[in-house]
Amino acid sequence: MTMKLPIYLDNNATTPVDPRVLDAMMPYFIDKFGNASSKHSFGYIADAAVEYAREQIAKLINADTNEIYFTSGATESINLVHFGTAEKFLNKYNHIISSNVEHSASYESLLQLQKKGIEVSFTRCDAKGFIHPEIIVDEIKADTLLVSIIAANNEIGTINNISEIGKLCRNNNILFHTDATQAVGKIKIDVKEMNIDFMSFSSHKIYGPKGVGALFIRKGCEDKILPLMFGGGQEKGIRPGTLNTPAIVGFGKAAEICSSELEVESKRIRQLRDYLYKKIASNLDSVKLNGDIEKRLPGNLNLLISGVKSDVLIANIREIAFSTGATCSSDTGKPSRILKAIGLSDEESKNSIRLGIGRFNTDEEIDYAADKFVDTISNLRMKKFQSIS
Ligand code: PLP
Repeated sequence: MTMKLPIYLDNNATTPVDPRVLDAMMPYFIDKFGNASSKHSFGYIADAAVEYAREQIAKLINADTNEIYFTSGATESINLVHFGTAEKFLNKYNHIISSNVEHSASYESLLQLQKKGIEVSFTRCDAKGFIHPEIIVDEIKADTLLVSIIAANNEIGTINNISEIGKLCRNNNILFHTDATQAVGKIKIDVKEMNIDFMSFSSHKIYGPKGVGALFIRKGCEDKILPLMFGGGQEKGIRPGTLNTPAIVGFGKAAEICSSELEVESKRIRQLRDYLYKKIASNLDSVKLNGDIEKRLPGNLNLLISGVKSDVLIANIREIAFSTGATCSSDTGKPSRILKAIGLSDEESKNSIRLGIGRFNTDEEIDYAADKFVDTISNLRMKKFQSIS
């Protein structure tokens, strides 16, 4: 089979819908289109499909079915936790601890809360992007309500010690939320073992459709959060609005596939990632890995390529889709907030690229990509050298 171009290497931004997911969704657009809240056969069919998806998703993260709340995506789930808990405990507990390497969905929502008078401490990560539990302990105050920490970073793939952070929050009677959007379906997540109270995640990062996500709320924590919207009382009133049945069915199927294939898939993807990294780094000077090599998402590679601007590299490699950093912030042209947080200069940050390998990448594609990066980077460096000598 001939290889199709361009090659998609931006699976941290989003993933294609798995054909098995699409197949599962199709009947819910036309034949089984009922409103899951309707009390007749069409409604019952949709409701049964939604509840089945809830089970599939709960299983992936070792939650109970009634601990899963559907939302429009991780951004909504994160905002719901931050604003919903802050409002519930307003004037009693007014302090939140987070970090300087959160995704903008988390970071920007906390900046908004700051404007409303909530105190937010953004703890600093180390040079590989890890948030150390000891640093969080130092920030705890009498009125600390919530700790909100990213599970795995979307730019540099660094995986935090969520169990330890969860344990310390539980021991200190502080609520714990993790943004696990990049982690769920890629590494093992067990909400019970990890002492998680709230967890946000999204369907489109795990080969499900866009526009649907979930918030895990641990049993007993439902009364620690207020809704942001009011309406028909769906999702126990915490997130009202007619449920998007086809998308939820797809999300459920995507989660089921991850449950059964995660182990084999993450091994294969990690091997492809390591191969790509080795081939690039052994054929080029001055290529540095941003983040940690071990505690890292299997498909993520973030490379600092000295002397070559990432936007120039992107413009010169049309055959491969990859990114300069987080998709949401790459539009702004500003150096990445995450790369700055791990100590890179503006120049180094602008010379860094993110490659995201996923389920549908083949050995052949990775080989092609490695050669393309090596050739193009060598040529760009050569041209630059010639122009200044
Ligand atoms: N959190 C992280 C770590 C992400 O990578 C993303 C998406 O890029 C989000 C949150 C936002 O997710 P969604 O697109 O579902 O709103």
